[in-house]
Amino acid sequence: MAPPSPDRRGGIVRRYFLIFAALIGGSLAAGLFVELAFRFQEARLTLQSEHQRMAELAALRIENYVEDIAQTLRIAAPPRGLKDGRLSEDYLFNLRTLIRNTPAIRDAFVIGLDGHEQFRESRIAASVPNTAADHSADPFFVAARDGETYYGPVKFPNDSLEPRIRIAVPIEPFAGDVAGVLAADVNVRYIWDVVQDIHVGKSGYAYVVSNDGILIAHPDLHLVLQHKDLSDLPQITQLRDPDSGESGTGEYPGLSGARALVAYQRIPSLGWTVLVERPLMEAYGPALLSLGRIGGIFLALCVLAFAAAVRLRRRVVKPIEALRQGAVRLESGDLDARLSLKTGDEFEDLAEDFNRMAARLQEAHAGLEHKVAERTQALEQSLGEVKALSDTMQTVSASLDLQKVLQTIVVHATELSKSDGGVIYEFDEDAQVFRFRAGHLLRPEFVTELVAAPPTLLDSIIGRAAVLNEPQNIPDGAEPTAPHSNTPVLAEGYRSMLAVPMTRGGRVLGGIVLGRKVAGGYSDEEIDLLRTFANGCTIAIEHARLFYEVGRKNTALQLASQHKSQFLANMSHELRTPMNAILGFTDLMLDGIYGDLNPRLRKPIDQLQVNGQHLLRLINDVLDLSKIEAGRLELSLAEYNVDEIVEALQAAAYPLAQAKGLAFGVSSESRIGNCYGDSKRMFQVLLNITGNAIKFTRYGGVNIRVARENGDVHYAVRDTGIGIPTEELGSIFEEFGRGDPAIAKEFAGTGLGLTIAKRFVTMHGGRIWAESTFNVGSTFHIVVPRRVTAASVMDAALGAAGER
Ligand code: ADP
Repeated sequence: MAPPSPDRRGGIVRRYFLIFAALIGGSLAAGLFVELAFRFQEARLTLQSEHQRMAELAALRIENYVEDIAQTLRIAAPPRGLKDGRLSEDYLFNLRTLIRNTPAIRDAFVIGLDGHEQFRESRIAASVPNTAADHSADPFFVAARDGETYYGPVKFPNDSLEPRIRIAVPIEPFAGDVAGVLAADVNVRYIWDVVQDIHVGKSGYAYVVSNDGILIAHPDLHLVLQHKDLSDLPQITQLRDPDSGESGTGEYPGLSGARALVAYQRIPSLGWTVLVERPLMEAYGPALLSLGRIGGIFLALCVLAFAAAVRLRRRVVKPIEALRQGAVRLESGDLDARLSLKTGDEFEDLAEDFNRMAARLQEAHAGLEHKVAERTQALEQSLGEVKALSDTMQTVSASLDLQKVLQTIVVHATELSKSDGGVIYEFDEDAQVFRFRAGHLLRPEFVTELVAAPPTLLDSIIGRAAVLNEPQNIPDGAEPTAPHSNTPVLAEGYRSMLAVPMTRGGRVLGGIVLGRKVAGGYSDEEIDLLRTFANGCTIAIEHARLFYEVGRKNTALQLASQHKSQFLANMSHELRTPMNAILGFTDLMLDGIYGDLNPRLRKPIDQLQVNGQHLLRLINDVLDLSKIEAGRLELSLAEYNVDEIVEALQAAAYPLAQAKGLAFGVSSESRIGNCYGDSKRMFQVLLNITGNAIKFTRYGGVNIRVARENGDVHYAVRDTGIGIPTEELGSIFEEFGRGDPAIAKEFAGTGLGLTIAKRFVTMHGGRIWAESTFNVGSTFHIVVPRRVTAASVMDAALGAAGER
């Protein structure tokens, strides 16, 4: 499996890290944001209510101030002041005292119920009542006459710096009994002091606007003196909205233009509105600062957390990476891989565990390699043994040379068992001694010694092994307790000895003896190996013995066969002479040389001649065959003309075919010309084959075809005869092979013709074979070289000997 790429792994770690950072940082940031938003909102509300309270306070003070004056005015008209609708002296005195004591009152005048002034008192000048002036329709008179306190609009008479309002109260000597109206023009400059006293933060201030939006009080008097109309400002405009209420706060563009936090409070009795205004930046500054501080702390914490996370990541990822690299090195076979992690935590423990594991792995691997090397060596040794065994067995099975086989075995056995010398003995049953057959790594003098004094059954290790039919393993022959310790083997320096017997069916055949010049003996495996070699020897000796037996019997048989052939040749020769005499005499008798033949004798003598000729043919065949088998028949090679032979064949066979009413023909592609060989034997062969064809054909015909084929002459004799069953085709060329007995009975013959024909053809270096279909006909083929050489005759002779 391919190791995952470091990039991908880095990606995973980074991704997890980012996910955690996003989760933790995100939730922290979200919480903080919500918290900050709430805090800011709280601060804002607090600020707004503070401002609101300030505006309320200012409004209250202004209202109280004005109402105090109105109250003073009311008090100034005691019931006793009026007597029969006239102003009493007391009242006037009171009035004057009032004006003196109340600096805000500039003028005060009393109006009778008819609307005309009755009395006027002024702070700054001696005043005369304007009795002509009719106030009966003026709103202040109407309101006061109706029992109400009237507060007039702010005015700046003659562009004076003093804002004034007219206050009118009813003069009520008794409740509900209005006797006249007391009006006063009151300097309301006091409200300037009120607004100047109000400090909202560093640059916040209060101001007052009249019902129609004219600025009537402001810390900056210049603005007031300009009678600034503020009715276009949104905070003033919204006051006209009936839903705007008595008081409220909001964020609007301030008088200076910058946005400001604005709180307002109406004074309904006067129709004024007190506004407290503070620039937003200043108002919210502390809250924003505090929020900024918290945000800053959060950011700092975030940075710290990030740094900690990065450090943590390094502390975690680096050891993991080191562990992974160690594992990869181990996987790639580098067992020296060790980790050095000094983190002082579990990673260090893990690294130590890893190192221990790698060390164990290395040990196990080394052990395994050692074992593999051991096993390989053992295997190589076994392989060597198997090869040696197979070589030995091959030699045993392929070679009939016993000496060679035994030598091979002793060499392999000595070398495989790492012995310093080895011997193979064959047991001589007659002498009852072990004869030295082959040795390896032995000094020639020691071999001479072993040959001269062969070990016996009784006084040798091999004798003991053979008697007990068990290998004898002697760890140290020099030990006094060791059997046969005085053998010449000890003198040769051998200490460890191993003797393995070779037996067959209880018969001792011999044994192998190996020796080492160090004490210690042989292992069980080596003994088993030696047993196998001993078995190989046994088989080889058996083979050799069998081969020797077979060879001996074969020679005897060949001799007997030669004698038989010789006998048959002699016999045939001896039979032929009297046979010729008998046939000669019967011929003479039939020809009437010995006088007229008694008609009664003619038939038996005819029969005698026919049987005699048959017997002579048989004798001739047997003679030929035995001569061939006895190796006494030789071809007489000479130049001859094939066409002449074919003509002679035709001349001899034609009458026979004609006698049986068969068609007969010879076809030849062209004239074949001269050949070199035995013409007499070739004619004999062709006549035999053609004779058979006519003999075994009842109707139809016989045809002979002669052709040249490369350096050969090919004769093919075809007939339409009885044919030969396929299973008999193989045996017709054997001696006395006559096929189906019923057919043999019908057609006379010896069963030797084809055998002799085959021998002659073979002697010429040619081939003869038959093709036949039962009941259809047969074709006999003869192919002989045009020029027979001595070598081909020799090969043929050897082939014939092999067949026999
Ligand atoms: P024989 O004297 O019986 O003819 P041969 O050796 O010449 O002996 O032939 C062996 C046998 O082969 C014969 O007995 C016959 O069965 C068979 N044979 C040979 N030639 C022919 C042929 N042309 N047609 C059929 N059978 C044949």
